[in-house]
Order: sequence, then structure tokens, then C-alpha cells
Amino acid sequence: MPNAAPIRYTIVPKSPEAHVFEVTCTVDDPDPNGQGFALPAWAPGSYLIRDFARNVVAAEARSGRRPVPVGKIDKHTWVAAPARGPLTLTLQVYAWDLSVRAAHLDASHGFFNGPSVFVRALGKETRTCEVDIRAPRGLRYRGWRVATTMRRRRAPVHGFGLYRAASYDELIDHPVEMGPFTLARFEARGVPHDIAISGRHDADVERLRGDLRRLCESHIALFGPPAPMRRYLFLVTAASEGYGGLEHRDSTALLCSREDLPRAGMREASEAYRVFLGLCSHEYFHTWNVKRIKPAAFTPYDLGRENYTRLLWAFEGITSYYDDLQLARAGLVSESDYLEILGRNITSLLRTAGRMKQTVEQASFDAWIKYYRPDENSPNTQVSYYLKGSLIALCLDLTIRGRTRGRSSLDDLLRALWNEYGKTGLGVPEDGIERLAERVAGIPLRTFFDRALRSTEELPLRRLLASVGIDMQLRPAESATDKGGKPAIIPPRELASRVTLGARVIDDAAGARLSHVLDGGAAQAAGLSAGDVLVAIDGFKVSAANLDRRLARYRPGDVTTLHAFRSDQLVEFTIAMRAGALDTCTLAVMTSDRAAAKRRRAWLQLRG
Ligand code: ZN
Repeated sequence: MPNAAPIRYTIVPKSPEAHVFEVTCTVDDPDPNGQGFALPAWAPGSYLIRDFARNVVAAEARSGRRPVPVGKIDKHTWVAAPARGPLTLTLQVYAWDLSVRAAHLDASHGFFNGPSVFVRALGKETRTCEVDIRAPRGLRYRGWRVATTMRRRRAPVHGFGLYRAASYDELIDHPVEMGPFTLARFEARGVPHDIAISGRHDADVERLRGDLRRLCESHIALFGPPAPMRRYLFLVTAASEGYGGLEHRDSTALLCSREDLPRAGMREASEAYRVFLGLCSHEYFHTWNVKRIKPAAFTPYDLGRENYTRLLWAFEGITSYYDDLQLARAGLVSESDYLEILGRNITSLLRTAGRMKQTVEQASFDAWIKYYRPDENSPNTQVSYYLKGSLIALCLDLTIRGRTRGRSSLDDLLRALWNEYGKTGLGVPEDGIERLAERVAGIPLRTFFDRALRSTEELPLRRLLASVGIDMQLRPAESATDKGGKPAIIPPRELASRVTLGARVIDDAAGARLSHVLDGGAAQAAGLSAGDVLVAIDGFKVSAANLDRRLARYRPGDVTTLHAFRSDQLVEFTIAMRAGALDTCTLAVMTSDRAAAKRRRAWLQLRG
């Protein structure tokens, strides 16, 4: 029914001090048997059942001025009694979740992600939606504006008023920020891009604008212009701490620490800013990979329950590979910075014993119950499809480049995915990426994929990195804060005789709390468990701060006593110290091999 009446919504920041949005949904021609309305159980891009209906404080329905009985038939579905139109459902939604997934409202700003506030009028999901986004009442809110990529129907630029979306699916894909945000604009390949920063900050907005423009242009060039969106918006919430991003077709919502943003006068990118740029790069890459090139399992999304796919290694992993690679290709980080980032990622994988138990396909399928619900045993049993997926993408890229003598690469696979699936809207079948990779590269890749995706065998990183003139070295960690990527300061012989507990430790008022006890480590063999608070080694007090120093006095094989609190009981343990594993990676350019150097420059697109 192309001319069917639109579904009309209003959203009002009714009580910022009580964190309540009032949201209405009006259907002109309700279902004669009783109109149903449902809130999603999850938000696309974040694979966990969140049951947004839990934040609904009150629901009522009216037909004109007459109240209509409304009741729930399951955890997220309301049904109004048969009534004449227009029928309006009104929800009071509690909004106090400072994340990119849900809604947040106080006297300083409001933010919402569509799935957490807008109900779907059942049976009418394909209709046009109109949303009246209203300002809060009161003089103190005079300076508030609106940032969103939803199309304006009757609203000033960045103003409150009437917006529209072509369908429910589109309605919930445009997050909205309202408040006194900073705004900056740039163009990338002819497409206007806005940056809206909410929260107190002192960022060098000019720097950010220039860096994001280079980044966006390099992504558009990778997939091939023109860019698929009419405009784009980076919605940044700068908070005291936090880190997260959620992708949308025309925008991304990002949460960061205000310290991550560039300062005026900063020359080299700080490590925190590099990480922030990586996050922007990641979410922007999703504009193509996962928002338009999508698994068939998400075409369309079933918002009422888990949507299973084994392809998150590609949609998140390939995206994670390119987020940093494109920073290097755009010249926003140096070659040595990029190798440091890569070395850290490899270190992170080598410190995940779960890579020997779970494949990335399993990790992807079980994201809903495992990756998004980590616990103290996760490092022992799980592998991240982001992390291992990004290193599989690296191996796939270098494999294709090597076996085709540089004629083809992962870039070509992405462009083929864009042409065959992104532009057509067809969903990618579960075996679609593997088949297309073989076709594009013109080589058999079955063995590669069987090993990388469906086994727990180690990835051939050392050999493939050597093919582009990069030497990979492994050593033990030199401290609890050593994330790899850089050579050790401690001489190799001394480092080799160091011991580690085989546990991750966090600071606790009483001592050193073990957050994770790792399989095969000395702590586990001694009987220690996650949650134990280590208070003494050989009778001497320890804390997270002095633990490394204390441990430096021991050699592999030494036996001593440990004291730890398990709940409220002091327990004595006997521990036999073990050497640290070779789980810390550093990468260095090999200057001798000129042919390999040429391949490296082609891969990183280095000029000169
Ligand atoms: Zn992602």
C-alpha cells in the first residue's frame, strides 16, 4: 500500500531531571482485531538481547480522547483493544543509560538510539514514519539543537520539529542527539560530513575535522566513489571515561573520554587519539561493511530474537583489520605506529588461551551468549571474532597478494562484495564470502578458510609477515602493563628468567584482586581462583602496584607461599613459580629484502 497513512511518532524530553522521554505512536487505521506494538529485543550492531521494554515505565492508549484498554502479550509487545483510528499508544521511557545503544536524558543533553524508544506498529513496518522531535520546556533549554541524519520534513536545520523516515527499519537507524553540542563540517568526495560533540571538552576541532576528512576520503576511495550516503554524521559524546561506537547507514554514535580528543597544539597523535581515530575508522567502514553489505541472516533483521550468523569474523574482523590499516594508508599514523598496533593485536591473541578451544565461526554464532556476556573464564574459553577476525583478514590479504603476485588483494574482494551485495541489497549467504574470495582472487582458498575459520590452528602470521619484509619476534611480557608491539627494555636473558603468576590482576583496597586466572598458569596450579584477593607473597604484603617488583625476586621453579582472601576467609597457598610464556609480539621492518619491501609499500600504499 504505497499511499497508506504514515505512522506518526512524537518524542518529548518530558522530565530531564527524572530521565524520562514520553514517546507516542499514532496509527490512523489500527488493526480492527486490536493493534499490536512492539519494542525491539536488541539493537542492530550490538548482538545481545537487551529487552528495551524493561525501561518502559507506563503505557496507555487512546482513540481520540477516549482511553482504550491496552495489555501486554509478551515481554515486549502491547496490544490495544479494537478501536477506531487514530489510535495513539503513549509510553514513558526511562533513559539513563550513557551508551551508544540505548537512551540518556538529563538537564545537560538527550540522546536516543531508535530501537530503545520507538515501537513498531505490527503489520505496518513498511510504512513511512514521521517523528515530531520536541524540545524540553523551560528557558534553561533554549540553546538546545538537534543532530541526526533523519530527513527533515518540517524542521529548521539542526532544529526541533518534524522528521521522516521511509520505514520502521530506517526510523531506528538514525540516532538523535539533542543539546548544546559543538558542530563542525567537512566534505569528503562531495558528501557533507558533520561532527557533533556533546559533553564538556576542549578538543582541537580543526585538527579533528582535517584528520576525519582524510580518513573518510580513503574509505570512499577503497570501495570506489561515489559514497553511498547523501550525508554523514559523527555523533560524539565526550564523557569522563568510556569507549564505544555503534554503526548506522548514515551516521555513527561514539562514546569516548574527553581526554581521547586532540588537544590544541598537539603535534604527533597521542596514543588515546590514535585509538579514537581507529574507532571512527571502524564505524565509518561499517557504512559499507555490515550496514549495506549484510549477512543474509540480517536481511531483514528479526528484532524480536537472536539472529544467528557465522560471518561476524568478516563483518567485524575485516572491519577491524581495515580500521587501523586505513589510518596508515591515509598517513594518519606512521608505518612504525601501525606495526606497533599490529604487534599489540597479535600479543592480545596470543594471550587468549580460548583461541585453542573456540573457532571464530563458533565465536560468531555464540556472540549473543558469550562475546557480549564475558565472565572471569572468558580468556580461557573464548576467542574474539574482532581480534582473530582482523588477523585472519591480514592473513587472507597477504595470502592473496602473495599467491597472485600482487595482482589481487583483499581490497578487490571488498569491492566485489560491495558490487554484488551492497549495491543490490542481497544478503551475503553464509558461504558467500569464501566463494567470492576464490572467484575474485582466482585461486583455491578452501584450505585457508578451513584452517582459519573452522579450526583452532595457529595462524601463519610469521611466514606471511615475512613475505612483506616484516620480522615477527616473540618474548615474555616484562610487566603487567606490557601490551607488546614494542621491544622490551629488560635484556633478553634477564627477561627469560622472569616468572609470572598466570593471572590478570586489578587493584583492590585489600590487595591484588585476581580478575582472571589463566589456564596452565602457576596461579591456577596453586589453587587460586578469580575473585581471590592476593595479600602476601612469602609473608610480605602485595598490591597490584608492587606485584611485578615482588615477583622479580623469583626464578622459574622457586616454591613459596601466598596468602589470599577468598570471600572473607584467609587461605594459604603453595605456589611453584613458572616462566612467562612467549606471548608478547614485536614487529620490525627487515631492511635487507628489497622485493619484500616493495610488496610492503604496495600493501600499505606508502608513497615514495
Ligand atoms: Zn564493528
